[in-house]
Amino acid sequence: MTLKTGLEILKAAQTGSYGVGAFNTDNLETTQAIMEAAEETRSPILMAITAGALKYSGTRIVDIAMAEAKNATVPVAIHLDHGDSFESCMWCIRKGFTSVMIDKSHEDEATNIRETQRVVDAAHAVGVSVEAEIGRLVELGAEVIISEENATLTTADEAERFISACGADTLAIAVGTAHGPNKGRGRPEINHQRIAEIRARVEQPLVMHGASSIPQDVVARVNQAGGVLKDAVGIHDDDITQAIASGMCKVNVGTDLRIASTAGIRELIRDKPDIIDMRKILAPAREEMKRVIVKKMNLLGSAGKA
Ligand SMILES: [Zn+2]
Repeated sequence: MTLKTGLEILKAAQTGSYGVGAFNTDNLETTQAIMEAAEETRSPILMAITAGALKYSGTRIVDIAMAEAKNATVPVAIHLDHGDSFESCMWCIRKGFTSVMIDKSHEDEATNIRETQRVVDAAHAVGVSVEAEIGRLVELGAEVIISEENATLTTADEAERFISACGADTLAIAVGTAHGPNKGRGRPEINHQRIAEIRARVEQPLVMHGASSIPQDVVARVNQAGGVLKDAVGIHDDDITQAIASGMCKVNVGTDLRIASTAGIRELIRDKPDIIDMRKILAPAREEMKRVIVKKMNLLGSAGKA
């Protein structure tokens, strides 16, 4: 099947009142897990690739994702997640991406508008859709980039002003989620009222970053197999379904796949200490990721929509 743009997939989701997952891939096994889950559940997807994934694979991840996506029988968009510059967006478009995110949300609004507009103009000229972001999410990666005090929720005024000025196709908003496993902070609180307010003023599909649910049974398995994931919590399933009902169309999932693959690898190494074959070590990781993705597709309501 030919690739779809992010907008095509998300407009259909908006019309049908369901959510579509954007799953981050870094390698072959993750890409296979995402595609197998999508085929099995008949679910449209966005295959999301970050700058970090491009750097890790020496950009080969693009070839892997493209090859898998072109064999797909469900709608797939290849999406640049958190593009940091005009140049990186253009590089991805030339490589065949059908959706790019330009994230200048850390800049002032005028700069965010100007830089997003540049990407929109160029991307639209070649039929690629663009996701922009306004507001700031808490960053909980290896290093804290944006602290809780500096994270700000997007207002409906800002969202409407920004999207009409920059012309982006979809909009990521800050409504209380955070990137990463939320260690030690308790469960994030989603401002559903805010999602509904923004949806009432913005017709473009809305995007929620940092939407991993951090399944506690999988976290427990990681810890039982020697991992140390303390106080890792994510978004409650009810919050996800409510957010979709309020107008969210794209739900980004990265951390859940990392936790699932870690559980698979740790248990394999614990239970079969004689195994040295990389394929036998990574196959359970692929199965665990697929299981988590299938569950997510059913939760979002994208299952059966392809
Ligand atoms: Zn994100």
